[in-house]
Amino acid sequence: MNFKKTTIKQLHTDLVSGNITAKDLYDHSMSVIDERDTSVNSFIEVFTDQQLDHSEYTHILSGIPVGIKDNILFKGKKVSSASQMLENYTASYDSHIAKIFKAQKAMIMGRLNMDDMAMGTSTESSYFGPTLNPLDESRVPGGSSGGPAAAVAAGMVPYTLGSDTGGSIRQPAACCGVVGLKPTYGAVSRRGLIAMSSSLDVIGPITNSVEDAETVFNVINEYDPLDSTSVPLKKRAEYQNKNKNNKVIGVPRSFLEVDGLNSEVLENFNDSLELMKKEGYTIVDVDLPNLQHALAVYYTLQPAEVSSNLARYDGIRYALSEKGENLVDGYKKTKTKGFGREVQRRIMLGTYVLSSGYHDEYYYKARQLRSKITQEIRDIFETIDILATPTAPNVAFKFGAKKDPISLYLEDVFKVPYKLTGNPALSIPSGKNSENMPFSMHFTAPMFCEQKLFEAGKDFERVIL
Ligand code: GLN
Repeated sequence: MNFKKTTIKQLHTDLVSGNITAKDLYDHSMSVIDERDTSVNSFIEVFTDQQLDHSEYTHILSGIPVGIKDNILFKGKKVSSASQMLENYTASYDSHIAKIFKAQKAMIMGRLNMDDMAMGTSTESSYFGPTLNPLDESRVPGGSSGGPAAAVAAGMVPYTLGSDTGGSIRQPAACCGVVGLKPTYGAVSRRGLIAMSSSLDVIGPITNSVEDAETVFNVINEYDPLDSTSVPLKKRAEYQNKNKNNKVIGVPRSFLEVDGLNSEVLENFNDSLELMKKEGYTIVDVDLPNLQHALAVYYTLQPAEVSSNLARYDGIRYALSEKGENLVDGYKKTKTKGFGREVQRRIMLGTYVLSSGYHDEYYYKARQLRSKITQEIRDIFETIDILATPTAPNVAFKFGAKKDPISLYLEDVFKVPYKLTGNPALSIPSGKNSENMPFSMHFTAPMFCEQKLFEAGKDFERVIL
C-alpha cells in the first residue's frame, strides 16, 4: 500500500468492495508514522481511539485516515495551535469541520504540527519543535501548516486539513511537493478554527493530487449559519454563473519582477506555462499595479487582527495562567511565557498600527489599499479565467537560513494578494530542481470558482508529468 500512489476515491472504492478494510489503512498509516515521524515530527499527537470496525463506508471519506492541523477544535481533544499558551487546553466544542468529519466517519489520526499560533512560513516556531521536510530533512517543510504538508508528502496519511491566513496551506504544500487548496473566503466554515486574523483565516485540504483536493473540498464546502462570514449557496452560485471557462491564463508580469525571485523558479514557471499552451490555454500578460502593495497591506492588517484576537489569552479565562503582582503584571507574565517571539512581535506591531495617531496612517490606509487590490482582481477576472504565478519565490530553504523575520515575510509575496481579496487559490507541484526540491505553480480563480482551479489544475498535472 502507498497513499502517495492512490486517490481518495480509489481508497473509497476499495473499502466499499471489501478489497481493503479501515484496519488495513490504519495499520499502514501507523507503520509509516512509526517509520518516519520520529525524525519528521509532523504529528503533535497520534490518536489511539480509532473506530476500526466499520461495516459500511457510506461517505466518501469513511474509514480513510486524515491528519488535522492543531488549530481545529474536536470536542474533548487537546488543541494547542502549537503554542505553549494552549499546551494543556482541551476543546470544549466541535468545530463545524469536526462535525462534518464525524458525520463522514473519517479516521482522524491525530493533531499536526504548525508554527506557533499559525504565524510563520517554516514551522520553525512550533512550541513542539520544528517539522522537517520529508524530501530533505535539512530543509524546512514550509509553514505554518508544515505538519499537514509533511505528513502527506511522507505518505503517513492520504490527505490532511490545514489553515491558510497568508499562505499557510499553499506554502508548505509547495515546499513538500504536494497539492494545497485555499478555498474562497466564506466557502468553508471557520467556526472552531482557532482565530488568528478573522478576515483572512480559511481551512482547506493538502493532498497528493488535484482530484483529491476536489474530493475533500466538495465535502467541506458547506454553508454554516453559525459562521457569520459563511456565504449562502445561492449567493455563491451567482458568482459561478457569471463565469464561463475560456481557458485564458493571466500572468501579472511586472509583479513577478520582485527582488528575491529565484531564477530557476522563474524559468520553471515560464516553461510550465508553455506546456499549458499545448493544452489549449491562452496565456496573456496582465497589469495589476497594486499587487506590489499586497505584502505590506497583509503585514499591517494581519498583525492588527492578531493583536485584537489574541487579547483573549489574558491568563484569566482559559489557557496558560501566570500569577502576577497585579492584573497587568499577570497579563505580561502570561503572554511573555505563553507566546513565542514571532507572536509577540505581531501583537506589538498590530497594537501599534491600531493605536490612536497611527490608525489612520497605517491601518486605515492598508484597508483602503485592500479594497483597491480587491477591485483590481475582480476586474481582471472579467477577462481571464485563471491568474498564475509561482507559489513562492524560492524552493524549500535550509533550517536557520532565514533568521530575519522580513526575509520570511518575503516568501509570502505571491500568496497574500488573494487572501486580501478572498479568491480561491491552488498550489500544484511543477517539477524539481537539480537538488530534487519541488517547484510549484499557483493558480487563482474568481470567487467561488474552485471548479475552474480543479479543471486547470488537472490539465496542469497531466502536462507536467
Ligand atoms: N506566513 C504567513 C504569516 O506568517 C502565513 C500565516 C498563515 O497563513 N497562517 O502570516
